[in-house]
Amino acid sequence: MLQITLHEVADIRLSDVPMPDAPQPGWVQVRVRRVGICGTDLHAFAGKQPFFSYPRVLGHELAVTVHQLGAGVSGLAEGDDVAVRPYLECGVCRACRRGRTNCCSDLKVLGVHMDGGMRMYINLPASHLHHAHGVSLEGLALVEMLSIGFHAVRRANPQPDDQIVVVGLGPIGLGVCLAARARGLSVIAVDPSVNRRTFASMQRLVAQAIDPGTDVVSSVRSACGGTLPDVVFDATGHPAAMEASFSLPGNGGSLVLVGLVQGELRFVDPEFHRRELTLLASRNATAIDFDAVIAALPSIDIAAWVTHRTRPNELASVLPLWRDPQHGVIKGMLDLDDAQSAAC
Ligand SMILES: [Zn+2]
Ligand SMILES: [Zn+2]
Repeated sequence: MLQITLHEVADIRLSDVPMPDAPQPGWVQVRVRRVGICGTDLHAFAGKQPFFSYPRVLGHELAVTVHQLGAGVSGLAEGDDVAVRPYLECGVCRACRRGRTNCCSDLKVLGVHMDGGMRMYINLPASHLHHAHGVSLEGLALVEMLSIGFHAVRRANPQPDDQIVVVGLGPIGLGVCLAARARGLSVIAVDPSVNRRTFASMQRLVAQAIDPGTDVVSSVRSACGGTLPDVVFDATGHPAAMEASFSLPGNGGSLVLVGLVQGELRFVDPEFHRRELTLLASRNATAIDFDAVIAALPSIDIAAWVTHRTRPNELASVLPLWRDPQHGVIKGMLDLDDAQSAAC
């Protein structure tokens, strides 16, 4: 069967490998159909992903079809199309035992810490497969990406009258907007990219999308009608923007860091204390968040989100292009359906 390996930086190799063994009890063998390409994949290809080791089979945003059930698996049948929760938790650490599987102390993410889904068949725990009846394969491959935003909003637990601001309208920030909208909240988004602001507005994910301008605090304050917001989500992953976001929540407000950076962030403690801010990190997502995304999928225009598509033997040539903001990628997707015929 076909396997796509990121052998080294900028070195993608297609190879013919043996099929996996029959699935263990509680596990399922699935045929991989679509793989969403995420920033992690693009950074790994470019050699910009910290602590990443090569060679690695990428792929954690997966739409798959059930191929063979291991013993004792119920609720799934051969031929079912499902989304994959790619965070394989240990199940025994304190975080896992308290339901915080997304931040398991020994977490292994498919395609990041272990080989992922860029191959025709893979065995996965049945517990990590999510049904979404009537959703297309491309919709299923969006679930993981969107679940990050749904988890962040669930972490913040906003109240119905809270003013929400989302900083950064990449795919993760758009997922935060969708999650807030699914709760009936009104969102003001901040992003310097006119293309991203237009997408968020056209898709009705936000009430208003603004340019941060030269003074993001005053831009946000005026968009919020003269006061600062109650809950701010930062999905930029840029240190300067994240540090600036500490100035955005109003008194008694919250800041949720969804994007992350390698390194230190600084904030002015007297300001932080004066406003008695709540600071939250948000990492990955749980089964609850996946189910919430699946419930919200019928309300989004999946075809508009999937802006770019590729096949196995084109992947190495498109990944450098997709890193370039000029290409306007919201979500690029690898189609593995014709993997049989791909050059091995
Ligand atoms: Zn991702
Ligand atoms: Zn654990």
